[in-house]
Amino acid sequence: MDELKNIIRDVPDFPKKGIVFKDITTLLADAKSFQRMVDLLAHRYVGEKIDKVVGVEARGFILGAALAYKLGAGVVLVRKPGKLPSETFSKTYQLEYGTDTLEIHTDAIRKGEKVLIADDVLATGGTMSAVVDMVRDLGGEIVECCFLAELDFLGGRKKLPDGKVFSLLTF
Ligand code: 5GP
Repeated sequence: MDELKNIIRDVPDFPKKGIVFKDITTLLADAKSFQRMVDLLAHRYVGEKIDKVVGVEARGFILGAALAYKLGAGVVLVRKPGKLPSETFSKTYQLEYGTDTLEIHTDAIRKGEKVLIADDVLATGGTMSAVVDMVRDLGGEIVECCFLAELDFLGGRKKLPDGKVFSLLTF
């Protein structure tokens, strides 16, 4: 696991001064690391009969699509406002300064479907908490929220359903 951790690049002062951004593009660009990330995460959900994997814009799409392919599930996109073409359901959530909004197609998840949600990084948990609400409002049953990496010191998992959070790597 240390190999996967070490290939993630720290970028200081991105997107703002004082923030050290975990840049996962270095992991994605390395064939062995990418394969290992997908295999390790997918292995956890084999046999769970997942119907849909929800990927969160934008890096969550990469993880979500790869997991869905491995698990034989459909892919659902959660996007920034105005990007999805059909009828959407949206959720606005709090950021440190201001708010942000995410959207999902209203017919993307049917009542009772088993849903895995995927994103690259869990930071403060605001994004994933909004996605959890959207999936539940559409009637989806959340199997787990999974991440490549969790920034433990930000305490994001406290905002998410108990026992339904998994991160491959912890910083
Ligand atoms: P949160 O809502 O948990 O504070 O932030 C999580 C969202 O912001 C995720 O969609 C994630 O892609 C992005 N994010 C926040 N911090 C980082 C980071 O250090 N590295 C990466 N790759 N994404 C981050």
